[in-house]
Amino acid sequence: TWEYAPAPESRDIANLKPGYRMFLDGEFVEGGGEPLKSINPATEEVLAEVSTADRDDVDRAVKAAGRAQERVWGPMPGAERAKYVYRIARLIAERARELAVLESLDNGKPIRESRDVDVPTASAHFFHHAGWADKLDFAGYGPDPRPLGVAGQVIPWNFPLLMAAWKIAPALACGNTVVLKPAETTPLTALVLAEIIQQAELPPGVVNVLPGAGDVGAAVVGHPGVHKVAFTGSTDVGKSIQRSLAGSGKKLTLELGGKAANVVFDDAPLDQAVEGIVNGIFFNQGHVCCAGSRLLVQESVAEEVLEKLHKRVATLRVGDPLDKNTDVGAINSREQLTKIQELVASGESEGAERWTSPCPVPDKGFFFAPTVFAGVSQAMRIAREEIFGPVLSVLTFRTPDEAVAKANNTPYGLSAGVWTEKGSRILWMADRLRAGVVWANTFNRFDPTAPFGGYRESGFGREGGRAGLEAYLDV
Ligand code: NAD
Repeated sequence: TWEYAPAPESRDIANLKPGYRMFLDGEFVEGGGEPLKSINPATEEVLAEVSTADRDDVDRAVKAAGRAQERVWGPMPGAERAKYVYRIARLIAERARELAVLESLDNGKPIRESRDVDVPTASAHFFHHAGWADKLDFAGYGPDPRPLGVAGQVIPWNFPLLMAAWKIAPALACGNTVVLKPAETTPLTALVLAEIIQQAELPPGVVNVLPGAGDVGAAVVGHPGVHKVAFTGSTDVGKSIQRSLAGSGKKLTLELGGKAANVVFDDAPLDQAVEGIVNGIFFNQGHVCCAGSRLLVQESVAEEVLEKLHKRVATLRVGDPLDKNTDVGAINSREQLTKIQELVASGESEGAERWTSPCPVPDKGFFFAPTVFAGVSQAMRIAREEIFGPVLSVLTFRTPDEAVAKANNTPYGLSAGVWTEKGSRILWMADRLRAGVVWANTFNRFDPTAPFGGYRESGFGREGGRAGLEAYLDV
């Protein structure tokens, strides 16, 4: 075990300030709510104090967004809007280093991931959607599809900047304005994105960012001036939002939890599959809605795969999120760490075989060593519930039909993976897996051109691609 303190220069690179204010009607202002403290989960130290919104702030933000939508952003020609959205994309790319370090400090994810995935994908999302802004008439919805108005958007803590980009970019491209509520444990990069939006000279009120806890999220989605609600987060909160909006006439999209199956057939290139399994569950500490948290492996190769998996997982380095050699960073909060520990204990008490990586783990901060459970049966909690941590449950199957049945034996339906040499089997499986995304011989690949979203308890609506635009248009 060891302790670490991030190098002082990381604060400079991240341009870390002692206090952050909310972004309302084009200005950074103090909110009326109780300020929150954003914690570095790798050290447990306070990173910054962040101003939060109260109900009056939410009201002011929604009204500002409504005015901006009606007077400026909605009537603006698409080609003009595109210029602003391209500018945001370019500024994210210019400030990539600052954003990546800040994201790793605030969220705990390895710098390699924030640098190579979160920040460039966020920028790519704005580039992609800027391209749509002047082509909506040709998107196949008929002439003159209309923006919905004000979008109220609530996001989780696992990809703070990227989720903000997924939400804001399509809304802006389609002519909507935005009130965004970031997660309470990770508000910082969304506020830097607000700075970028100011730097890109978007008209005041087009984007508003209001930090706060769930009550602020509830006030945003419930405000009568909001026409469209986009929520990413847990299935429980998603369902409660759906109930609260019944009869409101607001358009709603929900991106919720998952319990994805990563299905490995005996003809798969096993070394490549093992890399995909590792990426599938240990990327971002497993804080991924589409994480491959259930490995379904064909019985004839199960032992071999498990052996290779243990060997590979034992090489993963857990620790300092700012170290470029780190593979698995910090768990985002103590609360999440407790939830992971509780589910892991349930796996042990229900009789699954636990294997934990022998890697050293820091004493201080919220860390959890990569863990693999073998001998998992479908009834166990670790096979059914989303753990949202670096914990893999391994189940086996004999036939393709059994693989499909087990993979689909979940109330969720966000993603799945298939590993096989046979192209025909990939198509056969993709047809039968009830999941919004099926990856073949790869996992956790995201692209703004591809629609992403779930079935059943994973929610509804799509983000990305042409399908994603529909969530922000009357067509
Ligand atoms: P959460 O539901 O607890 O919180 C998400 C957001 O909702 C936060 O900003 C929170 O403050 C806010 N919130 C809480 N109560 C609210 C209420 N009553 N009304 C409005 N807003 C409220 O989820 P979390 O723990 O932050 O995130 C983890 C979950 O998000 C996991 O289940 C994960 O699978 C899911 N997720 C899904 C996707 C996807 O695209 N499907 C992507 C990322 C995360």
